[in-house]
Amino acid sequence: MLDRTTTLQNYQTYIDGTWTDAASGKTFETLDPYTGQPWALIPECDNTDVDLAVEAAHRAFDAGPWPKMTPTARGKIMRRIAQLIEQHAEHLAEFEVRDNGKLISEMLAQTKYMPEWFYYYAGLADKIQGAVVSVDRPDHFNYILREPVGVCAFITPWNSPLMLTTWKLAPALAAGCTVVIKPSEYTSASLLEFMKLVIAESGLPPGVVNVVTGCGPMVGEPLVAHRKVVKVAFTGGSATGARVNEIAARTFKKVSLELGGKSPNIVFDDCIMDDAVSGAVSGIFAATGQTCIAGSRLLLQEAIHDQFVDKLVSMAKTAKLGDPALAETQVGPVTTPPQYQKILSYIDIARSEGAKCVLGGEAAQKAEGGGKYFVKPTIFTGVNNRMRIAQEEVFGPVLSVIKFTNEDEAIEIANDIAYGLGAGIWTQSLKRPHTVAQRIKAGTVWINTYRAVSFMMPFGGYKASGLGRENGIEAIEGYLQSKSVWINNGSGGGNPFIMKTAS
Ligand code: NDP
Repeated sequence: MLDRTTTLQNYQTYIDGTWTDAASGKTFETLDPYTGQPWALIPECDNTDVDLAVEAAHRAFDAGPWPKMTPTARGKIMRRIAQLIEQHAEHLAEFEVRDNGKLISEMLAQTKYMPEWFYYYAGLADKIQGAVVSVDRPDHFNYILREPVGVCAFITPWNSPLMLTTWKLAPALAAGCTVVIKPSEYTSASLLEFMKLVIAESGLPPGVVNVVTGCGPMVGEPLVAHRKVVKVAFTGGSATGARVNEIAARTFKKVSLELGGKSPNIVFDDCIMDDAVSGAVSGIFAATGQTCIAGSRLLLQEAIHDQFVDKLVSMAKTAKLGDPALAETQVGPVTTPPQYQKILSYIDIARSEGAKCVLGGEAAQKAEGGGKYFVKPTIFTGVNNRMRIAQEEVFGPVLSVIKFTNEDEAIEIANDIAYGLGAGIWTQSLKRPHTVAQRIKAGTVWINTYRAVSFMMPFGGYKASGLGRENGIEAIEGYLQSKSVWINNGSGGGNPFIMKTAS
């Protein structure tokens, strides 16, 4: 059970295998979003700390044992990381609940699942293989090496700090890279607990994983700009992602971006209605709607629209708001004060655009199970896809219901958006799931399910939802580069003034 009585916990950050204060000595408060009270002090890093952390990661890559270690030995350390997460799953879950207000039930599911990423990529570490190429020259022996890219910067958002760090860290370590992580200033504590209980105890050499805490412009930007960082893996909003991409391009870094979404959850009239209603609720009210894959546009086929909305409202209005640390709570607080204001402002925008609020539409008061930053599960009907409430990411428990008549129209509406992260399809047809899935422009399509993820399935966005993929075998490619090696076993002759081609 979460202990909220303790005095302010004082954290240090972790650079080069050592616990340290920020170089400036400054700290900032982090809030418990359920109570709205500060509960911990986090080091306020700046340029100096970023430089120390990147230099440590660079030394660990250039001169340290990590990239030179056999991949089998790296895999063993990664399995140790997985075991330590298993051992501390409950503790890590509680800290994330305290720091970002996610439900304890959701967090336990996440922290108990996280080890699988480290087991999976530990198994992949010694299956990274180059190739021998029978090149088109006589007497040549050519091969391709697969090498780790070097120092990677990870920038993560506040909504799922540990899970989203895991998606990056496991493939990066398997590849032999070293890392500097910048968590969101709103939720740094769970990562620092992870460093203390897992990374520091795992046997990883110093400097392989480092953390710099502080706000985006002060810490994130210098990290992305640092000339010794060669790869940036970013998860966050699309506007920040574009800025990160621009800065990274100046020094030709590799970049992967997992960005925002406004995903369509499409319900056809041949669905199993109760399953689809539950899927719609899960799509938008799980994690208080603060997920990139939120099914925030519910597309309902005309014939079932009214009945579906009735059932949806009936289910959503029973959602139990309250303390995220309690197992029975179903909707917790909004994580940050600015996000709380943003959600309420989008509710005003939806009303002013003419959408009809059929549930919620306001903050939840204490007597209703609310706390400091609570918004009631909110449903707008009568939304058309051109409204801002249909086009812009709210990142909260606010659902836009859009009516459609046939499959072509559903697909047109689904794709008529800047984003392309996920999509849901609810139907009993055998043919439709495949044809619709192929026509949807999104990185993930769920059929008769929603919000399912796995370490085995690639995850990422089309369009403004991102670049590159996390999870699955292909994620490791983002942390590797090829080197072509040419060996001439014959004579070195030929015309030295022209390129050596086959002809
Ligand atoms: P932000 O884009 O505001 O922040 C993401 C991270 O970037 C934070 O660590 C932030 O630091 C940092 N940052 C902010 N400004 C800069 C900058 N100029 N240079 C470098 N780093 C910077 O997103 P949120 O934290 O608000 O997260 C919500 C967003 O993340 C939503 O759009 C959501 O869809 C997306 N997201 C995408 C996921 C995906 O996999 N596609 C998964 C989860 C979320 P700080 O917070 O300290 O300012």
